[in-house]
Amino acid sequence: MLVAVNNKNHYLNAMNEQKSKSQKHDYYCPSCKEPVFLKKGLIKQAHFTHFQKKNCNVFSESETEEHILGKGMLYQWFKQQEIPCQLEAYLPNLKQRPDLLIWLDEKTPIAIEFQCSALSTQRMIERTFGYTQNGYKVYWILGEKYHFKNKLTSFQRLFVNENEAIGCYFLELHVADDMLTVHYLINQQENSAYMNAYSTQFDLNKVETSLKYISEQLLLLSKKKQNKSKRQLVQSHYFLNRGRNYQVPEIVSFQKYIYKKGDSLVSLPVEVYLPVKNQLFIKSLSYFWKYLLLEWIMGKSSNGVISKKEMHQKISQMINNNELIFYVMPLISIESKKKCADYFIAILIQRGLLLAISNSDWIIQKEPQRYKDEKEKISNFLLLEHSLMV
Ligand SMILES: [Zn+2]
Repeated sequence: MLVAVNNKNHYLNAMNEQKSKSQKHDYYCPSCKEPVFLKKGLIKQAHFTHFQKKNCNVFSESETEEHILGKGMLYQWFKQQEIPCQLEAYLPNLKQRPDLLIWLDEKTPIAIEFQCSALSTQRMIERTFGYTQNGYKVYWILGEKYHFKNKLTSFQRLFVNENEAIGCYFLELHVADDMLTVHYLINQQENSAYMNAYSTQFDLNKVETSLKYISEQLLLLSKKKQNKSKRQLVQSHYFLNRGRNYQVPEIVSFQKYIYKKGDSLVSLPVEVYLPVKNQLFIKSLSYFWKYLLLEWIMGKSSNGVISKKEMHQKISQMINNNELIFYVMPLISIESKKKCADYFIAILIQRGLLLAISNSDWIIQKEPQRYKDEKEKISNFLLLEHSLMV
């Protein structure tokens, strides 16, 4: 821990305390009130530690050096910018102790959590909702063990956040070189677990690296860049075929379903292959939920009008029936997740299957094209891959 209390109940920051042999200091753990002592060396970040290792469930001695260092680093960084910042502040109504608490304005306190070790999904959700439901914002920054590579584990996925300007993003701290890395515009490649993303690093030691600077830089960068999503329609077709050959359960059940509807992995229309923007949030086989939605839309041919309201009801129904399953991502709103339906509608409009007749109503223009044989399909897919249309 970086903060202790003295016998007058004053809070003391380890970074400001001096170690002296002549003077005896009384330091106590703010949580369990047991005596602690100051550890201050040349290499290690100054911090307090318990004399006895048990009985404290808030500040366990398993707190890694990375965690202590990172907290100290962030604290100094906020202080330099004159951003009000509190270390390890206890929030009694939440019974939570964020690593740091900062105020960018008087209204919204922001909790900063530097996560270096495992945490159960349940605890992560509890802590996140504890903050957001009590008027706090929360930012999670990940430690070395969980730095972003080209895939996301289910644990890392919990910490993906979203912002209008920079899309899906992921924050990590590199304590060894004082770097904050932001991965942004993260999106998932269709039919693969690989992620596309842009990354940029900020040196926290540089004078210009303020919070304001970082957000300005990110805004500039993301304006220049776009979600890089290469069209891989032919590969997507082969992916399904392979899944059938290897009897991948979810692909087999998809195939069985479309058979009953008179379709096959060959006849399947291209609309089912085209990726939606927020693929990253969706756990269900992408072809399957799109097929179901397309089937429902085309089944409305009696009057041919689809309203936004109806469509959102259909989406809710699909969620309830487990036909559309999202990943557990506590920082992403359900509204954001449900946008997959809007993106799919946009695809259908671009493909000329639907026509918008108002802001919230569409009319069916034509049926999707079904393929007679694989040759026809592949050549059509290749053509679409090369066209600029997204
Ligand atoms: Zn304690």
